[in-house]
Amino acid sequence: MKRLILAFACLSILGCPLVIKEPVKHAPISPIELVVLGNLQDAGSPHIGCTKSCCAKLFKKPDTNRKVVSLGIVDYFNQTTYLFEATPDMTSQLKILSKQDTALPELPNGIFLTHAHIGHYAGLMYLGKEAINAHCTPVYAMPRMQDFLTSHGPWSQLVMLDNIDVLPIKANEPILLNDNLTVTPIPSSTS
Ligand SMILES: [Zn+2]
Ligand SMILES: [Zn+2]
Repeated sequence: MKRLILAFACLSILGCPLVIKEPVKHAPISPIELVVLGNLQDAGSPHIGCTKSCCAKLFKKPDTNRKVVSLGIVDYFNQTTYLFEATPDMTSQLKILSKQDTALPELPNGIFLTHAHIGHYAGLMYLGKEAINAHCTPVYAMPRMQDFLTSHGPWSQLVMLDNIDVLPIKANEPILLNDNLTVTPIPSSTS
């Protein structure tokens, strides 16, 4: 059984981030693939307030390859996908993830939220009635995040309208997604 360990660490890079290229579609060498969908700090690119050349240049010609930190998992055997973080760039990141194989649906089979920085859950808005109007997309979150999403608007509307189904996860307790895939939340001491 392949086991994926999810470290509850913010993968984002402060300041002006690195450039990440869109993954190239290729024949999978494993039934499970991890796809890096972004590595930017929560506020994305071009970064508001940044006057350095990285962003000044982008205003002339935005680089659409630069996206907020996110990981995707493709399970080719079960034809399922999972997303880590619902970023402001989620719509384009889901296009990239689902394009890994023609049979993959655009919506993932689950979304894991690692922590409560706004860039990690803002993309949930695209699951609402103003966008795809999803039906019970599983959103895995730690207890405080689950409470926040279910009791504070506008996120609580997604719960009320069954766009998302917020599922609790616990530290160090593996979540068995299928026979091939397990996710284990590991708390980080950083905030
Ligand atoms: Zn963060
Ligand atoms: Zn910049």
